[in-house]
Amino acid sequence: MIVRRVSPAVLISTARDLPALRAFTPRGQKAFLALISGATNQRSQRVREAIVSRGLLAPKTPADKLVGLLDDPDLTPVVLKREAIALPKTGLTYALSPLPGAPGLKRIACTVAGRAIPLDIASSLDARAIAARIGDALASVPAEVRAQLSSVFVSDAKNPDDDYFTDLYGVQVLAAMGCGKEGRLHVFPEAMKQDRDTFVRNLFHEAGHTFSIRAWGRDEAGAGWNPWRAAAAEDVIAPSYYATCSVHEDAAETFLLYLISRGTPAFKEYQAMFPKRFALIEGALARANR
Ligand SMILES: [Zn+2]
Repeated sequence: MIVRRVSPAVLISTARDLPALRAFTPRGQKAFLALISGATNQRSQRVREAIVSRGLLAPKTPADKLVGLLDDPDLTPVVLKREAIALPKTGLTYALSPLPGAPGLKRIACTVAGRAIPLDIASSLDARAIAARIGDALASVPAEVRAQLSSVFVSDAKNPDDDYFTDLYGVQVLAAMGCGKEGRLHVFPEAMKQDRDTFVRNLFHEAGHTFSIRAWGRDEAGAGWNPWRAAAAEDVIAPSYYATCSVHEDAAETFLLYLISRGTPAFKEYQAMFPKRFALIEGALARANR
């Protein structure tokens, strides 16, 4: 098959005029155009490539082929940590010092930018190496991520909830980390197998759970989440496949995307794709800072 080269500008203006686009809802049209228009992010690039390689710029392209691009599993990232957005550089350092720990745990004080986040590490583990890894990760994230965390617990056993979430989401879940309303980050052995980039991105995601539970509640069926559900419906597309598993995952993935793209050209592109969710994150961040 010969794939024509089409410049993004020509592709976008041609797609904008496709008769099939009129079959979309107004929200769907907006989402579609935002999805294909991102100049720098990988997801928009992949969708544009698919439009060309699948021959979807022809005037007779059926509407369902275009609609399908909005949640095409081959074009939607499974989890955002695989999206190639560089980690922000904070230039911060961390300081560690041992403290008396509870039975079975080594406690190490970890301080980043004046914020103390104690680490409780299972005695069977290499506390020095693990503390260095977590200190580095905490120094690599924006203050809004650290602000969610009160302490870190590093376990030498897998998360007992893995089986429950595997059933609930219908995908194999082997948690690397978990964090609830109280902000105690649980780190499981799976996390120690991750590369630094994945480990740090996971930290954003978990802090996103704490942040969103504080903002909208623990019960995902609760009225507190109504604004989020409405926002997600208006945005139409999801930040990742994993985000579609529950509103909690949707919020955690959006929090990650918002903070990791902030200050980069991709931020405005993602803001155009997820305008309502980004506005909710922005509002909740502003309230948390007051
Ligand atoms: Zn999650």
